[in-house]
Amino acid sequence: MKKYGSRGSYVTIDGDNIHIKIMWSKADCTFSDITNIEFDPQIVKQGGALKITTTNSKLAHIIPFRNEERDDFTELYNIIKEKIAPFVAERSRQADRRSERARQLDEEGVAYCPKCISTSLAVNASGGTITCLKCGHHYAPGK
Ligand SMILES: [Zn+2]
Repeated sequence: MKKYGSRGSYVTIDGDNIHIKIMWSKADCTFSDITNIEFDPQIVKQGGALKITTTNSKLAHIIPFRNEERDDFTELYNIIKEKIAPFVAERSRQADRRSERARQLDEEGVAYCPKCISTSLAVNASGGTITCLKCGHHYAPGK
């Protein structure tokens, strides 16, 4: 297990498990949960910050570091960047496939769920709303 950072804020990597502690908040994730990592452009006095975005949270984890920790955090950045690359690429391929499928269905004039692109839909007799039989999304026609 390797620990990056010190004092109140640090990141540890133990196999595929990543533990992020920022002051009083903690988060655990794996490489497959991370959607993006970047150096935060915000200027932290005498240091910087690493920004990690995961699928489990809408908020990015911003881990501040001091100038003397920059090399360590650059190493951490490079490790995570490399480990998440296949997952990021797969998510992007999935998104491409979904938008390609949606484009096809639009062309064919087939109705589909705006959330999961499934064509298994039920029209609710009362109100004329639509329920997706695959994901349960409930919506008014016309998207
Ligand atoms: Zn759906």
